Amino acid sequence: MNKNYTSTRNNSVSISAKEAIKKGFADDKGLFVYPNLGEDQLDLQKILTLDYSEIAKTVLAKLLPDFSTGEIAESVDQAYQSSFDSDKITPVVNVDDFHVLELFHGPTSAFKDVGLQLLPQLMKHVLVNDQKVMILTATSGDTGKAALEGFKDLDNMGIIVFYPDGGVSKIQKLQMVTTGGHNTRVAAIKGNFDDAQTNVKLIFNDNTLRAQLGSAVSLSSANSINIGRLIPQVVYYFDAYKQLVNNGDIKVGDQVNFTVPTGNFGDVLAGYYAKLLGLPVKKFVIACNENNVLANFFEHGVYDRNRPFFQTVAPSMDIQISSNFERLLYYKSGQDSTYVKQLMDDLEQTGKYQVSPAVLKAIQADFYCGYSTDAEIEASINQVYDSNGYLMDPHTAAGYKVMRDYQKSDQTPMVLLSTASPYKFVNAVAKAVLPEEADSQDVLQTMKDLAAKTHAPIPENLQKVWQLPVRHESVIQKSDMKKYVKEQTEAVFYDKDQSSSN
Ligand SMILES: *Cc1c(COP(=O)(O)O)cnc(C)c1O
Repeated sequence: MNKNYTSTRNNSVSISAKEAIKKGFADDKGLFVYPNLGEDQLDLQKILTLDYSEIAKTVLAKLLPDFSTGEIAESVDQAYQSSFDSDKITPVVNVDDFHVLELFHGPTSAFKDVGLQLLPQLMKHVLVNDQKVMILTATSGDTGKAALEGFKDLDNMGIIVFYPDGGVSKIQKLQMVTTGGHNTRVAAIKGNFDDAQTNVKLIFNDNTLRAQLGSAVSLSSANSINIGRLIPQVVYYFDAYKQLVNNGDIKVGDQVNFTVPTGNFGDVLAGYYAKLLGLPVKKFVIACNENNVLANFFEHGVYDRNRPFFQTVAPSMDIQISSNFERLLYYKSGQDSTYVKQLMDDLEQTGKYQVSPAVLKAIQADFYCGYSTDAEIEASINQVYDSNGYLMDPHTAAGYKVMRDYQKSDQTPMVLLSTASPYKFVNAVAKAVLPEEADSQDVLQTMKDLAAKTHAPIPENLQKVWQLPVRHESVIQKSDMKKYVKEQTEAVFYDKDQSSSN
């Protein structure tokens, strides 16, 4: 068996990609990483001749070497054959002097569909005999629904989603609580996203609970700490580059920049993996919202989460601990897992850590970071709609402003990643382009009026969701999450006839 993966916090760990996907993260709480990534690069010239799913198969074959060619092909085909409303999967559109990579054409209109349509298909080939896996997910909004759709009604798999009560948009909540399937559970928790994520991590590390659930059941994660979700995201960076070449915007070998609205650092990290694998990228521009922990880090090398938490108009980026940043620290410290473990211990004990000047410099060589306030997000949505007729969601708009700041000193062709349909965040978008309806409680009507005004089509899933019955109504204390996991896991796997106890 190929044991290609190790832990960011312990270099002596070696584990196969399949095991890494099943476990989610390492016993030492580190994340699974592929050492020496990029020693062996992909053939860019060849990639330019492939379609999206062929690029996906090429990237996966490289990064998931213990999957057979057949397993990869089946997984990719199942994931993307019919679930996206664009045959390009992630189309590039030209807006003004930059390009937008639209990542929201999947079944839930969020970029997370790209990873979460594929992860469950990979998981199928990981489980042997009668093994079962319960997926636990903390969501700031978009992951939850995308994960529910990906895992819904798959054999031997179940999924429990926790979201912060009051911390997601009306549509995001509706999307989640109307999900069907015998194996799906959704609960609101009294707390914010970081509370949910922290408790999910504690549950993963709870050996008593694992013993109670028995050896046939494992707990895993659909957050972007899982390599099975992260690696599918590498694909669209290559595919976007291919589209720019095919459109005549760049020549093969030219450098490009990518601007990425960032929360848990999964999306932009996947871009960095693409760069390590040979994609000609000069700079990744990271955009935060007012929760600007990372932007502050880029100034002095101090990561400090001791600060107020803001609920912004871009809630999927309301995050104070960007989990995947740990993986970047691993690569940028020369794969020094002892060093990474020290930093992460500092973070756990004091809420902050400081990297060496050399590590900071290495990070700044590939990345630039800035942030947008809510007012700037609104102004960006308004401005791009007014001058280009293009409607952006608030996360994409956070990226837009930081991109414009960065472009003052670098005119390399720029791709802005658009991470959600504007219709997922209707009120914030209306505030910018339809102010008379910004505070309307009738979100469906506002969607229709936005569509009438802007001619941007409403994705089908967001139209249909209003007619579906609510199936998940639990609201629980964060201290009850573990109990909930135990009860619902047993109900899903051992009492299939019992419908959700919600
Ligand atoms: C999840 C999400 C992000 C942040 O992506 P990360 O991979 O967590 O950095 C940005 N925008 C939207 C709409 C999202 O759903």
